[in-house]
Amino acid sequence: MERTYLIKPHLRRDYPFVSYGRGVYLYDVAGKRYLDGCSGAVTANIGHGVEEIIHVMNEQAKKVAFVYRSQFTSEPAEKLADKLSQLAPGGEYGTFLVNSGSEATETAMKIAIQYWQEKGKMGKNKILSRWLSYHGITIGALSMSGHPTRRARFVPLLEDFPSICAPYCYRCPYHSTYPSCQLQCARELEQAIERIGAEHIAAFIAEPIIGAAGAAITPPDGYYEKIRDICNKYDILLIVDEVMTGLGRTGKMFAIEHWNVQPDLITLGKGLGAGYTPIAATLASKQVLEPIFEGSGVIMSGHTLSANPLSAATALAVLSYVETHRLPEKAAETGRYLFTQLTSFKKRFPWIGDIRGKGLLIGIEFAVPNAKGMLPSPLSFTELVVTKAQHLGLLVYPAAAGNGRDGAAIIIAPPLTITKEEVDEL
Ligand code: PLP
Repeated sequence: MERTYLIKPHLRRDYPFVSYGRGVYLYDVAGKRYLDGCSGAVTANIGHGVEEIIHVMNEQAKKVAFVYRSQFTSEPAEKLADKLSQLAPGGEYGTFLVNSGSEATETAMKIAIQYWQEKGKMGKNKILSRWLSYHGITIGALSMSGHPTRRARFVPLLEDFPSICAPYCYRCPYHSTYPSCQLQCARELEQAIERIGAEHIAAFIAEPIIGAAGAAITPPDGYYEKIRDICNKYDILLIVDEVMTGLGRTGKMFAIEHWNVQPDLITLGKGLGAGYTPIAATLASKQVLEPIFEGSGVIMSGHTLSANPLSAATALAVLSYVETHRLPEKAAETGRYLFTQLTSFKKRFPWIGDIRGKGLLIGIEFAVPNAKGMLPSPLSFTELVVTKAQHLGLLVYPAAAGNGRDGAAIIIAPPLTITKEEVDEL
């Protein structure tokens, strides 16, 4: 193993040096080809090396790459916010630009708390979440997440935010089945609010389809409608974290559009810059922004590089590409094909427990067949599968499931541009 000064995720591991990327493929300096079956970290949604995007980046960089958001606004940032408001599900949203998904969810948390402060409800400052969830790595975002391995070392620093069970039908936490369960997982939200007191809770946050902590756990129909009703009943904002699911990935522009629900705040990341630039966003509805506009007039958050024109222009070009190439529709169609192909494996490999997801966000949960049923497989199995696949020239994304501590899983999420032939190869 060669030691270098760059600190990589695993310090004692050798990583291949990437050379270039084209479409769904990445090539390392030794000439080996990898099929990007997970868009990196479910990020490179339009594939690698897209000329249109590179052209826009060049042109914007020639004009101006950076201005500080306290001194200037810019046409690309304004246009990007207009576009996101047009695309967002039902109603108008203002956009707060940031640079990563963690910043986006943490900003959503802060806006939610500030919203209640502006309305004089100073005690509403807890965020409810689900235990199987991942909303980011910074301390605030991690406080709202249940990903045990990512939390473990920092638990003393984290906010003691309450959580409820996920809508995890494959291993239902209540040992029930849908629909006779009457959505106990959604009703648990109401029980938690009653227990804690709505006067202490600012918002409930959820990924429409759970990513890293659940390998595409998809709720049954009616779940989000019930969640929305409960949030309305108790005056609690609904934050929908679309960092992984947003902008076409699940077959709709926003994954929450699979259900008939309008969130108060939405977070975007990954697919917004599609890997061409670091950019993320927190969208806040007009109703949420109104009391802040009328009150202090300032959102108490922000990062030096937020809303820089280069990233904004790049994201605008990515959105235009997604729309022009009808990538949400394409993801739905290709996703159905991939899902069918993967399901045919299930019969041949007994250690595939569950295959789930929507569009091109598909999770595979591994399991150990046993006399008592399909037990969760050890987390180390994920690592084994991911490493072996990369060795064979296929990238898949590691995920967890089960109880979050035990339960190996992967996510398959290729660029939305993937062809049927490439799916066969995958
Ligand atoms: N939210 C969700 C749903 C995610 O999947 C992630 C990252 O995987 C994040 C937030 C954090 O995003 P980032 O890694 O860009 O900070």
